Amino acid sequence: MEIKRFENKVWLASPTMYGEEQKFVQEAFDTNWIAPLGPNVDAFEKEVAEYIGVGHAAATSAGTAALHLAYKLAGVEQGDIVLCSDLTFSATVNPISYEKAEQVFIDSERDTWNMDPRALEIALEKYKGRVKAVAIVHLYGSPAKLDEIVELCDKYGVTLIEDAAESLSSTYKGQQTGSFGKYNIVSFNGNKIITTSGGGMLLSDDEDAIKKARKWSTQARDNAPWYQHSELGYNYRMSNVIAGIGRGQLLHLEEHKAKKQAIYRRYEEGFKGLPISMNPYLEDTDPNFWLSCMLIEKEVVESGKVTPEMVRLHLEKYNVETRPIWKPMHMQPYFEGRDFISVDGDNVGKDLFERGLCLPSDVKMTEEVQNQVIELIRALLIR
Ligand SMILES: *Cc1c(COP(=O)(O)O)cnc(C)c1O
Repeated sequence: MEIKRFENKVWLASPTMYGEEQKFVQEAFDTNWIAPLGPNVDAFEKEVAEYIGVGHAAATSAGTAALHLAYKLAGVEQGDIVLCSDLTFSATVNPISYEKAEQVFIDSERDTWNMDPRALEIALEKYKGRVKAVAIVHLYGSPAKLDEIVELCDKYGVTLIEDAAESLSSTYKGQQTGSFGKYNIVSFNGNKIITTSGGGMLLSDDEDAIKKARKWSTQARDNAPWYQHSELGYNYRMSNVIAGIGRGQLLHLEEHKAKKQAIYRRYEEGFKGLPISMNPYLEDTDPNFWLSCMLIEKEVVESGKVTPEMVRLHLEKYNVETRPIWKPMHMQPYFEGRDFISVDGDNVGKDLFERGLCLPSDVKMTEEVQNQVIELIRALLIR
């Protein structure tokens, strides 16, 4: 089969809009609720909290802002340690530095690519008394080993923060990710499973905490007729226009999940017989497969026959976007010197980074286009 360069770029993940978003945005215009907050924000918070199954939510200008508020609520401050997922987007761990606390990076496990509970336990022992919080991510939508992680956090009395930015709608034993931590966040950035163009949300069952976060995120104004501030504030709230987009998108979340799952299954099927595997997940989970990823077998990569970079450059020629796996945080120049905890001297994150690649997972990608992408990858690996 001769495959030509795609005229339209095949995206990793791009926004998919329907028109219902505009109805909610129009409402905001009609009632002149343009500025921060308003009925769309209230409704969007309620709808997302109900969907995930937590008591309360605060909509923010970004997922990163929600994470910053989560760390503040956990009481993270200078001198504290936060144990965090090593293989993630830097947004998970950056706000720890905003508070001048210190990250300790916990290696991934092969079963889920997420934080290895065994490495977490080693770190909890090593830093006993100094750990304020544990921050976990559900990479590419695959839930982490939550039972084990929640149990360890309870045992050591540390606060769990869930970064569910990539896993909105994924479930673990029937329960939504973003509902296991004391404080949890989701993101509505442009490439996420649903988007508001940019935005996020902080979620918790603790109503007082959410009230506090709302106050911090609106410049921490005290209840006074003049502008009075007893605490440091931020401008982190979501606008009422943006929340309108979110309400429209939320109507299509389950549909997006089903499409992402179908995309993952097609790759899985299409790669049969090749020396590659897909991003893994636990049996009792239902991942949203935000991104489908492939992992090339060690011997193939080490022999130099086919590397993820070769696949990426080859697909780029056909106008197909792929992306390396997140580069682990302990390998980032900015975090040089931070501790990295793994099991038996292994370095799973580095290995996944060197052998993995994120594949086009756009919900608008047709089966025909995906089959051609699969064919291009097959041709490279079958030789
Ligand atoms: C996208 C993302 C975020 C933050 O999202 P923004 O809304 O862009 O600030 C945080 N963590 C992870 C793992 C993400 O993928």
